[in-house]
Amino acid sequence: MQLTPTSTIWMDDEFVPWDEAQVHVLTPSLHYGWGVYEGIRAYATNEGPAVFRLHDHLKRLLDSARVYLMDPGYTVDRLADSSLELLRRTGLDSGYLRPIVYLGYGAMGITPDLNSVRTTLAAWAWGSYLGEKAEQEGCRLTVSSWQRNGINTMPPLAKSTGACVNSSLAKVAALRAGYDDALMLTPTGHVAEASAANLFVIRDGVLHTPPVSDYILPGITRDTIMTLARDLGLTVEERSITRSEIYVADEAFLTGTALEVVPVASVDDRPLASAGCGPLTKQLRDAFEDVVHGRDERYRHWLTHA
Ligand code: PMP
Repeated sequence: MQLTPTSTIWMDDEFVPWDEAQVHVLTPSLHYGWGVYEGIRAYATNEGPAVFRLHDHLKRLLDSARVYLMDPGYTVDRLADSSLELLRRTGLDSGYLRPIVYLGYGAMGITPDLNSVRTTLAAWAWGSYLGEKAEQEGCRLTVSSWQRNGINTMPPLAKSTGACVNSSLAKVAALRAGYDDALMLTPTGHVAEASAANLFVIRDGVLHTPPVSDYILPGITRDTIMTLARDLGLTVEERSITRSEIYVADEAFLTGTALEVVPVASVDDRPLASAGCGPLTKQLRDAFEDVVHGRDERYRHWLTHA
């Protein structure tokens, strides 16, 4: 996905021109991967751009920072104000917001200098993550030979830059093998998640999704879909799922901020019964689209207007 520059980036409480938002090549987070970040979407609504679940994302950013012993020195409200100001200054009516908390230039070595915490917020336009075809006809997944980072390897609850390498290895291997994305397993063979998205499986009208204890990042889109599904009267169970259960599912779909809601067409070349976007997946995706675009009054509290 190519970046299209916008006018400005917020760095440590200052707006700087896009091209000047630079860090030193000896920035330790570049060398050792000690950093945490978020991905947040803003959507066009009838009342202008609105950020979806901004405070929840920023809270998760600060939680991730806590796990990595970093104190950026900003509250959620303060980062929210700066994010909204950034959107206004860039003039984007929809797009992607990327906060990142990392360690700045000054010390080297794998013992992090936790006094050099830096914070940046950037925003840019970002379209479909898996592409229109996958969105409409469903994505083709393969189970990766790369296991998900274990709970005692790298904390999956924290969205960290270093942990992303695990996802990237799985994603690159899947793309090279001709698939759209990878599903990653825990060491005990339970399905954790896709490279940057959570999984839902539907069987006999019930939604199943792996629990937090199965090495997932508890996605905010996952939480959104669980809420919408329950409000629609559907049953959602958080429980361990094996790969063969997905092979025989009626429907399955992925959720994530960048990816949004994408149906699963096949796993390991086994087409799912729904063969594309199944009826419940469609219902939930339509409900999600209404919510993020401000067309459903009941969930307006999830939107923050710029
Ligand atoms: N799992 C991983 C590993 C991710 O990187 C993401 C993207 N943030 C998700 C799940 C989905 O989380 P969310 O819905 O909060 O974007």
